[in-house]
Amino acid sequence: MPKPKRYAIISDIHANIEALDAVIADARAVGVDDFVCLGDVVGYNAAPRECIQRIRELGCKVVKGNHDHYCSHPSVNLDDFQPNAASVIEWTRRTITSEDTQWLHNLPLTATIMGFTIVHSTLDSPEHYRYAFDRRDAEDSFNFQRTRVCFHGHTHVPCIFRRTTAGATHGISKVGPADGLLEQGNYFINVGSVGQPRDGLPKACYLIFTTEGLAKLSIEFRRVDYDIDAAVARIKQAGLPDRLTTRLYTGQ
Ligand code: ZN
Repeated sequence: MPKPKRYAIISDIHANIEALDAVIADARAVGVDDFVCLGDVVGYNAAPRECIQRIRELGCKVVKGNHDHYCSHPSVNLDDFQPNAASVIEWTRRTITSEDTQWLHNLPLTATIMGFTIVHSTLDSPEHYRYAFDRRDAEDSFNFQRTRVCFHGHTHVPCIFRRTTAGATHGISKVGPADGLLEQGNYFINVGSVGQPRDGLPKACYLIFTTEGLAKLSIEFRRVDYDIDAAVARIKQAGLPDRLTTRLYTGQ
């Protein structure tokens, strides 16, 4: 029997170092072997350099999110952006070092790790950063999925899509009771957001994935308290929009 391997799968950190450190501590306490990051290390919150450094220290696989892309491509025009989002991207571009920018710029869009795939958005066109909100979006991605399980982020809402061996795709909306051993079929799983949850719960969200050989795979969503006041103080000090502080308290 191969020894079980446990991964902490984290996504959408969004420059929230308080949330990231709380998640890393929780994952270490649980005894994970490795970390995997699904992108959007920066954007929205005010500790981009700290988060890039922490993720690099973990030495884990990372794929590129849309905010990582915008913040590391100064030529991307922000006219079509919501003003709040645009102002944070401009602030982040000014705040990170050129080495940080280069690191973000060079991240791949997808990666495969020991039999599972990771992407920030969807596998059908990862460079367009589509949102997988429903069964149809998930279906488009499943058509390009070559491993049993693919993890993604981007919407900041944890959820599970499953394609049965008969080819039907459905969403499993209740995340809690669905924790545990994965049944047969393929899975496209959103691990939620570390730094800006949007499912109404302000706690940082991530997922633990355990593999005991290819046939026995299990997941566990975890929610972690962190010092929201400290993250908010940083945002205020940086002069970033107020809306970015209030949403951390409500998880929206
Ligand atoms: Zn995001």
